[in-house]
Amino acid sequence: MPSSLPTILPTRRLLIDGGWVEPRSERTFASINPATGDVIADVAEADATDVDLAVRAARRALDVGPWRRMTGAQRGRLLQKLADLVEAHAEEFVALEALDAGKPIAASRRQHLPASIDCLNYYAGWADKITGDVVPTRSAALTYTSRQPVGVVAAIVPWNFPLMNAVWKIAPALTCGCAVVLKPAELTPLSALRLGELALEAGFPPGVLNILPGFGPVAGQALIEHPGIDKISFTGSPQVGKHIMGIAAKRCTKVTLELGGKSPNIVFADADLDAAAHAAASGIFFNGGQVCSAGSRILVQNSRYDEMVERLVARAQRIRLGDPFAPGTTMGPLISRLQQERVVGHIERGRASGARVVCGGKAADRPGYFVEPTIFADADSAMSIARDEIFGPVATMIRFEDEAEAVRLANDSAYSLAAGLWTRDVARAHRVADALRAGTVWINTFGPTDTRLPWGGMGGDSGLGRDLGRSAIDNYTEQKAVWLNLAIA
Ligand code: NAP
Ligand code: MG
Repeated sequence: MPSSLPTILPTRRLLIDGGWVEPRSERTFASINPATGDVIADVAEADATDVDLAVRAARRALDVGPWRRMTGAQRGRLLQKLADLVEAHAEEFVALEALDAGKPIAASRRQHLPASIDCLNYYAGWADKITGDVVPTRSAALTYTSRQPVGVVAAIVPWNFPLMNAVWKIAPALTCGCAVVLKPAELTPLSALRLGELALEAGFPPGVLNILPGFGPVAGQALIEHPGIDKISFTGSPQVGKHIMGIAAKRCTKVTLELGGKSPNIVFADADLDAAAHAAASGIFFNGGQVCSAGSRILVQNSRYDEMVERLVARAQRIRLGDPFAPGTTMGPLISRLQQERVVGHIERGRASGARVVCGGKAADRPGYFVEPTIFADADSAMSIARDEIFGPVATMIRFEDEAEAVRLANDSAYSLAAGLWTRDVARAHRVADALRAGTVWINTFGPTDTRLPWGGMGGDSGLGRDLGRSAIDNYTEQKAVWLNLAIA
């Protein structure tokens, strides 16, 4: 572990209106290293007063600042600079996420950082390609559409992929010309603060990006209630997502909600079992299962069920739990003591309901918030371990008899974010992909995401709207229809 932070962080301050300022309350909170339980830093805590200042700064940036007058190409160049700066400082982010979020450095280098940089690059490319259409009508007028920034965006994100969650919101919002107030998760504020420093270095004008670490019920609540907000973009739990939608309804503020998941991963008897076991293991154990699309329900056709259980257990036993800074570590700690207790509670309920623990099943005997990779066999769809989002390294394995039962079990969930299926039968692959209620379906793979593809749930506890891809351009722009009467000179 490095003896000091990779960079001197302005941890006691908030990014408001292009500068680092003390919170008006002068309050701070501790950011914890989940691998040890030690305090890493005292971070400034924003409250309603700071939120108000940030929202006003964002509004000024939109109304009178240079941001409004910039061309798309100029905005794109700023985003490109930010992408380059994040890339140049990638190792700092890898270290920050290891310290603050317990992310193994190998995983961050392979997935988290490249995906964040790719997202910034991708939306940098969109900035000068956001166009309207000329649409002939029944009249003699020239009629066209244009797209305008939706306005001030409140971006509220969770702790599981701190940098990437933030970039998924900031990059498309800024490319569209919006101004952003970001509230990172209280458990993982550090990478967002570093991102803010780099955004200032890239040259974004004051007020365009404001970053307010703080608590959900205080800073988050003040942000969603603020009348100066035009759009709320939220990633987090179904419970908070629904609460936000209720508040947004009062003013008809636009919302997108990326919420939870309990993703089924269906293995048919004709599947390549080796590949399926490999992907199913990373599908549930990657990031300690703290992934909204984690493949936490593994449905296996009867004739191969026992074999699949064996293979998955063998893979789980190879996982190396440990110090996120050790290059060989494949699973770090969970994010907090509370999360560790919650996950262990889910495991206890699974045991009590009669499912069989075939691997792991408890907190790891070491400091920090580790939980052993855990697999339940002989579970059924009614059990809490098959229904509740655990957000930890816990796989629930369920049997099915035929295709119809597989689809029925897969869709028997409050969630609808993602699903996987494994078969060599192409017709069945398409049939089942079509029948699954999920915003993303992976066939003979599990887990990849890409900036260019839409990401989101089909309602219920997975939320609504789509992040990423072209969809995010729709999220952060308003279409305007313009009529020009050609009969008047
Ligand atoms: P959470 O408790 O809902 O927190 C998410 C964010 O909302 C945090 O920044 C939180 O602040 C803030 N918040 C809490 N109460 C608020 C309020 N009243 N008003 C405004 N903001 C408020 O979720 P979490 O436990 O951190 O994250 C886990 C959940 O996120 C899981 O359900 C997971 O599936 C979901 N998730 C979904 C996706 C996706 O793309 N669909 C991706 C990642 C995670 P604090 O930090 O202070 O609590
Ligand atoms: Mg932390």
